[in-house]
Amino acid sequence: MRLLEGRPIAARIDEDLNKQIKELKFNPVLASILVGENAGAEAYAKSQKRTAEKLGIEYKFIKLNQDMKENDLIDFIQKLNEDKKVNGIILQMPLPPHIDYKKMSNFILPQKDVEGMHPANMGKIAFGKAEILPCTPAAVMELLKESGIDLYGKEVVIVGHSEIVGKPLSLLLLDKFATVTVCHIGTSQAGKLEEHVRSAEVIIVAVGRAGLIKGEWIRQGAVVIDVGINRVAGKIVGDVQFEEAAKRASMITPVPGGVGPLTVTMLMRNLVKAAKLQLETGSL
Ligand code: NAP
Repeated sequence: MRLLEGRPIAARIDEDLNKQIKELKFNPVLASILVGENAGAEAYAKSQKRTAEKLGIEYKFIKLNQDMKENDLIDFIQKLNEDKKVNGIILQMPLPPHIDYKKMSNFILPQKDVEGMHPANMGKIAFGKAEILPCTPAAVMELLKESGIDLYGKEVVIVGHSEIVGKPLSLLLLDKFATVTVCHIGTSQAGKLEEHVRSAEVIIVAVGRAGLIKGEWIRQGAVVIDVGINRVAGKIVGDVQFEEAAKRASMITPVPGGVGPLTVTMLMRNLVKAAKLQLETGSL
């Protein structure tokens, strides 16, 4: 069994990004907006800032008032859209309950949408033409590349169909000619989750429920990618029963240390791509 760790892959990609940024001859700027107070989101933004600055990216953290109206946030986003010095914009979650994330993310220019959540960027995935990919699915694809597995014709099962992970990932895997099955709450409620997981040569789980996937369900020799993050008795664990699954899998991601460390690197890669595209199209 081989552990599929994210950090060594992230380190290699970071090195390459560092070179690309030097070639750009300017430091790309990432604007990160947090609306209101949230210690978790602030800590996450701080860790993004550390990674960004190591690479030569300027990370502008902007904290806005909790009571801000949706229209004022739209105006603020539009100013950042027009600011030629800003190459990428991210909207930190969670937003206050009166602000709709999906609605707001539509106002970020697709060329500056470094989280890859704008409908235009999502739509391009369906056509196999995406330049900017959502960060977590991109991290999973990097781990699969690292695993060396040829996805052509493989039985790949995704558990979780969220817009941020499962749905875009299913399209990326179809592009590689994998046979993709997407499971969700309906699959579980129909009592069919185990049967699908047992058939998977590659299993990717993104639900957010510790121990949902029993180790004994893992097919002998399967590749297991666990995206889930859960806190159990003060420890971070994934959605897959790790110890038991590791006995059957040929490769498995640890949690923490698998998908997580790669996600922020994918964000920075998107920013560098965005800056290059803006240069090429003369919008800088
Ligand atoms: P989400 O939006 O809550 O989506 C969870 C998905 O799981 C939904 O599709 C849901 O289906 C499905 N689901 C819920 N209960 C299920 C069950 N019993 N059986 C099968 N499917 C079930 O969450 P998310 O944002 O995709 O995140 C999923 C997990 O990944 C979380 O633990 C999150 O913290 C983690 N995550 C990690 C990273 C990273 O960088 N490592 C990045 C993003 C997310 P319904 O919607 O139909 O209920």
